Amino acid sequence: MTFRRASLVFALCAVIGGSLAAQRRSSTPPQESTPTPPGPPRVEQLKREAMADVESMRVMTQQMVDQVFSYGELGFQEVETSKYLTGVLEKNGFKIERAFAGIPTAWSATWGSGKPVIALGSDIDGIPQASQKPGVGYRDPFIEGAPGHGEGHNSGVPLNITAALAVKKIMEREHLPGTLKLWPGVAEELVGAKAYFIRAGLFRDVDVSIFAHVANNFGANWGGGTGTGLESVEYTFKGESAHAAAQPWRGRSALDAVELMDVGWNFRREHLRLQQRSHYVIVNGGDQPNVVPPNAAVWYYFRETDYAHIKELREIGDTIAKAAAMMTNTEVSSRILGSAWPQHMNKTLAETMYANMATVGLPTWDEADQTLAKALQKELKQPQTGLATKIEPLRGGLDPEQNMGGPSDDIGDVSWNLPTVTLRYPANIPGTPGHNWANAIAMATPIAHKGVTAGAKVQAMTIIDMLMRPELVQQAWDYFRNVQTKDQKYVPFISDTDQPAVWMNEKILQQYRPDMKKMYFDPTKYKTYLEQLGIKYPTVRQ
Ligand SMILES: [Zn+2]
Repeated sequence: MTFRRASLVFALCAVIGGSLAAQRRSSTPPQESTPTPPGPPRVEQLKREAMADVESMRVMTQQMVDQVFSYGELGFQEVETSKYLTGVLEKNGFKIERAFAGIPTAWSATWGSGKPVIALGSDIDGIPQASQKPGVGYRDPFIEGAPGHGEGHNSGVPLNITAALAVKKIMEREHLPGTLKLWPGVAEELVGAKAYFIRAGLFRDVDVSIFAHVANNFGANWGGGTGTGLESVEYTFKGESAHAAAQPWRGRSALDAVELMDVGWNFRREHLRLQQRSHYVIVNGGDQPNVVPPNAAVWYYFRETDYAHIKELREIGDTIAKAAAMMTNTEVSSRILGSAWPQHMNKTLAETMYANMATVGLPTWDEADQTLAKALQKELKQPQTGLATKIEPLRGGLDPEQNMGGPSDDIGDVSWNLPTVTLRYPANIPGTPGHNWANAIAMATPIAHKGVTAGAKVQAMTIIDMLMRPELVQQAWDYFRNVQTKDQKYVPFISDTDQPAVWMNEKILQQYRPDMKKMYFDPTKYKTYLEQLGIKYPTVRQ
């Protein structure tokens, strides 16, 4: 029986930071971890210059954040987004490689020469049905049913671009060797691309990988012990159609097989490890009731906390699928639509980044920002704490045995290939559910604009640390080689012949793009997207 794999839900990137995870693990205190001490005076001086330069680019940063927000494209369909971002980079002297790894919306943008090579990545895709007007503290879509940035992935590559431009200026003036390589997290919500980027060699000569992900506070962590990895698999059943009333005995229902698989899985769920998280959507349930469905498909995410358990969960899924096919006299095939390793971030990189966060500090929120945040929190029946005013502690060295699961991001795969760290930056409102219209509200407002500028400062400073303090790069590799990968090596979930699921979300964009196009941000006419939309900031319930 052949098994392929498959299709649609939300991959999770975690906006939820560490407080929950930290509480859960109160029985195993984290290992000692301290921010990296400052470097030589010249390094610290250049970092201060980079901070000032990022600040001076805040209008450009805001435009990029607003522009990508207005595109709101789903995974593998980030056509306008990638065209725009590569355009900005090309104009600034970066060499672009398009359609990277056979993915039309993927690219890499390189500038500089020699070592070290520093990769800067961030996700770019949106969330289904998350269309939402920014700056409005309640549900108010632009286009009912259309996708939108209900995760905040419009902000990360703009952040990296601003940081890279500030560093590039300094590298040119100071004649510093090194290469900057920007790349987009295409289809992160489908955990659909990063394993293919690795296979195609995106990180082959890279020394340090610095990632950025939107959050509602500054944060960095290292080690494993949080979240999950996953395999995303589509099971397709094939039966035989028949007149559902005249001759139902001649039909073999593929939908029956899907339903039996789901029932079987939900019974089995009781006897799985508590760490597992699994969920599915039926992507094809037949055409109309009087035709026995000859084809049906269900799409599963199998999440667990380590590689071996993810494989095991997938195998259970395969077995249940086969059993459902036997029960219904149908055939089943499967295909992998995405995958992610559980994340393991680098200790040295996290400690260095954290020191820079402490220097930059959280943005200064004004009354309008706090009013919007509290209004949304009230709307969502969450504590009305407003925006973050204190940086999360540096976290690391959690006990993997204590990991109770959670979301995933395929940056996990990258983190098992070279020293990697994720910058979590304060561009969103605490208390939002994630993968939801509410997570889009702040993402083209001063909250996101300030948070991205603050994040770009940290990013630029961390890049300078890596360019000018080779001992830190060495230390990062020591941890990667001698601690992280001592007993566990990377084995991709994808095979040599699996291909990225680039057709996904095509139909949704075909349906909504004509209306979405009318809403694209035009910075030649308006300063901000809020201005273009005529939205008073903030708009909240009275
Ligand atoms: Zn994300």
